[in-house]
Amino acid sequence: MASLTRVEAEARSALIDVTAYDVSLNLDAGEKTFGSTSTVRFTSREPGASTFIDVKAVEVHSITFNGREIDPSAVRDQRVVLEDLKAENEVTVVATMAYSKDGQGLHRAVDSADGRHYVYGHLFLDAAPRVFACFDQPDLKAPYDVRVQAPSDWLVVGNGAATQTSEGQWTLATTPPLATYFVTVCAGPYVSVKAEHDGIPLGIHARASLREALERDAEQMMTVTKQSLDYYHSLFGIRYPFGEYHQVFVPEFNAGAMENPGCVTLRDPYLFRDGATHEEVLTRTNTIAHECAHMWFGDLVTMKWWDDLWLNESFAEYMAHRTTFEGCGFDDAWIDSSVARKAWGYAAERMPSTHPVAGSPAPDGDTALQNFDGISYAKGAATLRQLIAYIGDEAFLAGVRDHLTTHSYGNADLADFLGAMERASGKDLGAWADAWLRTAQLDTIELDLETGDGVIAGASLRRTRPKDHPADRPHSLDVAGWSGGEEVFRVEAVLDRDDMTLPDLVGAPAARVVVPNAADLTWATVILDPATVEALPTELAQIPDGQARAVVWTALVDGVCLGTVDPRQMLRVFEGAWALETHESILSRMAIQMVGRIIPQFLPAAEQEAATQVVARAAATLLERAEPGSTTALLAARYLARTTDDVELLRRWAAGEGVPEGLAGDNDLRWLVLRNLAGRGAIGEAEIDAALERDNTMQGGLQALYAKAARPTAEAKAWAWEQITGDHDRSNYEMVWLAQGFWQAGQLDLVRPYAERYFTDVPAMAGRVGEDALNNVAKPAFPSVVVEPATLELLEQTLAGGTLTPAVHRAMVDTGSQLREAVTSRATWGA
Ligand SMILES: [Zn+2]
Repeated sequence: MASLTRVEAEARSALIDVTAYDVSLNLDAGEKTFGSTSTVRFTSREPGASTFIDVKAVEVHSITFNGREIDPSAVRDQRVVLEDLKAENEVTVVATMAYSKDGQGLHRAVDSADGRHYVYGHLFLDAAPRVFACFDQPDLKAPYDVRVQAPSDWLVVGNGAATQTSEGQWTLATTPPLATYFVTVCAGPYVSVKAEHDGIPLGIHARASLREALERDAEQMMTVTKQSLDYYHSLFGIRYPFGEYHQVFVPEFNAGAMENPGCVTLRDPYLFRDGATHEEVLTRTNTIAHECAHMWFGDLVTMKWWDDLWLNESFAEYMAHRTTFEGCGFDDAWIDSSVARKAWGYAAERMPSTHPVAGSPAPDGDTALQNFDGISYAKGAATLRQLIAYIGDEAFLAGVRDHLTTHSYGNADLADFLGAMERASGKDLGAWADAWLRTAQLDTIELDLETGDGVIAGASLRRTRPKDHPADRPHSLDVAGWSGGEEVFRVEAVLDRDDMTLPDLVGAPAARVVVPNAADLTWATVILDPATVEALPTELAQIPDGQARAVVWTALVDGVCLGTVDPRQMLRVFEGAWALETHESILSRMAIQMVGRIIPQFLPAAEQEAATQVVARAAATLLERAEPGSTTALLAARYLARTTDDVELLRRWAAGEGVPEGLAGDNDLRWLVLRNLAGRGAIGEAEIDAALERDNTMQGGLQALYAKAARPTAEAKAWAWEQITGDHDRSNYEMVWLAQGFWQAGQLDLVRPYAERYFTDVPAMAGRVGEDALNNVAKPAFPSVVVEPATLELLEQTLAGGTLTPAVHRAMVDTGSQLREAVTSRATWGA
C-alpha cells in the first residue's frame, strides 16, 4: 500500500482540524495482537464534504461516525471514507491490531534472558494507523488521552504521565497537541530509575535483565539529561513543554532513538551491559542531548510535511554537539562530529542518491524517508554552523527563539525558519539558502603553496565547484600547518570565490603537514597535498590539535573512496599514527573504517590478511600503551580480538585466560574472540552454542547468530542465507546480525555464489518485512566483499528492472556505489 501523498495531506488539513484523540489499547489480549479503540473528534471547514481516516488493522470490528454505523467492510486500502461531514464530528473505530517484529508500529519482543515480553510504539513515519485509527500526517496535531490495559506486572509509560488506576489499568495524562507520529506507549516489566530536576519528573527505563547496567549508568545519563534541559532552557527561553520526561531503552529498535514528546525511546544496546569505551558514552550522551533538543524543535514546533524533516534533524544534530560540548563538558564532542557524523555525510554526498539538504521533493512519506540520511543530519548541521558564522550566534539564537515562540504547538516550514533568521539578523538569506540548502553536493577545497628556502612565497586557496551543482557556496574556514608537532601557521578566511590569495601566509615557515579547514567549520571535500599525505605516517600523531587530526583522518578516508589516495598509503598512516592517537572517537572510527571497509573492499584479496594483521599489531601496541582497565584498553582489546590471526591467543581469551586486566568478565569481548575463531573455522556450532548457554541474553543471541553465519563452510553459509532471507519470523535485529556475519572477505569463493542470490532474495522480502527494517537488512546483506565488475552488472540489471521498493532500491544504490568506489580504486592503484 502506497503511503499518504503530499497532495492528499494538504487537502485533508485544508478541510479539517483534529481537536482530540481518545485512544484505548488492550495489551493483555495475547502475544500476537492487541485491542485498539480510537475516538477522534474533528471539525470540518466545509459541511457536507468528505475525508478519510487511516487504519491498518488485522480486523476492524466497528466504525461509528457521527452516531451512524459504517460497515467495517468499507475499509479500502487501509482507509475509511467519512462522508457528509458536519462542523463538529466524532468517529470511533474498534479494531484488533497486530504487534510487529520489525520495529515499526507496536513492537513486541521476548527477552531470552528471562522469557519476559516487552512492547513499545514506534509510529514514525506512518505507522500510527497500525496502532489506532487516525488522521496520520504531521500537521494535524491534537491532544491525546490514552488508556492502557496491560498484564498486572507491567509498567506503562507514554507521552502523558501514567497513573495505574487499578490492577493492569493505566491512564495517561492528557497531552499537549501532538503529531500522530509522536505518540508512543512503552509497556512491559520494565525497571526504572527516577529523579526530578527543576520541577520536571525524570525516568529512565529498561528491560529487567538490564537492571544492573541501568543502575550503573543511571547517574551519568540523568546528569546529562539535566544538563541538556538546563542548557535548552537558557538558549530557547521556553520551558520544557511536555510534563514528565522519560527515556526508555527498548529492544530491537531500528534507529538510534526517537523523540516522542515526554517519552523518548532509545535502542537498548546503548545500555552497556559490560564495559563501554569513552566514545560509546559520548555517542549515547549525544543522542540524549539530540532527542532532548527535539522536544522544542520537532515536537513543540513540527514540520508541516516530511520535506522539512531535515530541518528537525539538522537542528537537533547541531544542538546535540553544542550541548555535549558546552553543557555536558565533553571537550571532544566536535572531534566526534568530524570523524563519526561528517564522515557519514561526506559518504552520502559521494553517492548517486545525494540530494540538497532542503527542498527535495517528498511526494509521499516513503519517498521522504529515503532522504533521511547523512545529508539531513551531518551536512544540515554543518550548514547551520556556516549560517552562524554568517549571521552571528546572537542573531541565530534570537531567530530560533522567535521561530519556537511563534509556532509553539503548531507547524512551520523552511520559509518560516529562514524568515525568523532574516528578521533576527537583518540579512537577506535567499542566496545563502540557495547555495547551501537547495543545491546538492559540495566543493573541494585545496591550498596551493609556493615555497622556497623553507618559507612560503605564495599561497592561494582554491575552491572547485561540482560540475553538476555549481552553486556559489561561501566558506568560513581556517588553514593551518604543522612540522614535527609544532603549529607553524594558522589563518582564517572567508572563501567566497574560486581562487583567493592568502597574503598573510607569505613569509610563514613551510610546514610538513598542511590542513585546509583545520577547525572543521565548513562542509567540503578537503584535498590534502601529496607532500602532506606522504608525511602523515610520522607527522600525524605529533599534531597536538585533535580537531585537525580528525579532519586529516576524514580527508584520508574520503581520498581513498574518491580514488585520489592509495589505500596502501592509508594503511601506512594507520600503522604509523593510529596507536599513538589519544581521542577514542578517532581510534574507534578509523579502526572500523580499516576493518569494515578499506581492507576488505579497497585492498586486493592477496593483501587483505597481511593488512588485517597491521591492524592487529597496532591494536596490541595500543593495548600495551593504555592504562590497564581503561576505556582505551577495552577499545584496543576489542580490535585485537577482532583481527588477530593468533589462534592460540584467541583460544586462551575464550577460556578466560590471560584476558587483559579488568576485561575478564566482558561478554561482548568474549564474543568478538569467538566470532574471529568461528570465521577462521577454529570453532564450530557446539562451541558457539556452549557460549550462548553462558550468555543466553538478547545480545548473546545476536552474537551467536553472527558467529554461526561467519563459519567458513558451505553448509553454514547456506543455513545463514536461508535464515536471513527465508520466512523464519526472525526479528529485524536477528536478520541484520546474520547478514553482518555472513559476508567475510576472506571467504570469497564460499560467498561469491550468494552475490547473485542477493538481487532476487532480498527484494522478495519486501512486504513481509517493514521498509525501515528491510533497509537496515538490505545494506549488510549486500555482497560488498565481492569487489568484482560482475557484481556491479548484477546491480545495474536489478536497478533497471524497476520493481524494487524504495527502501531496497535505496540500500542497493548506496551500497552499490560504495562497491563501485572500490572497483574504481583497485583499477587505479592496482589489484
Ligand atoms: Zn533526530
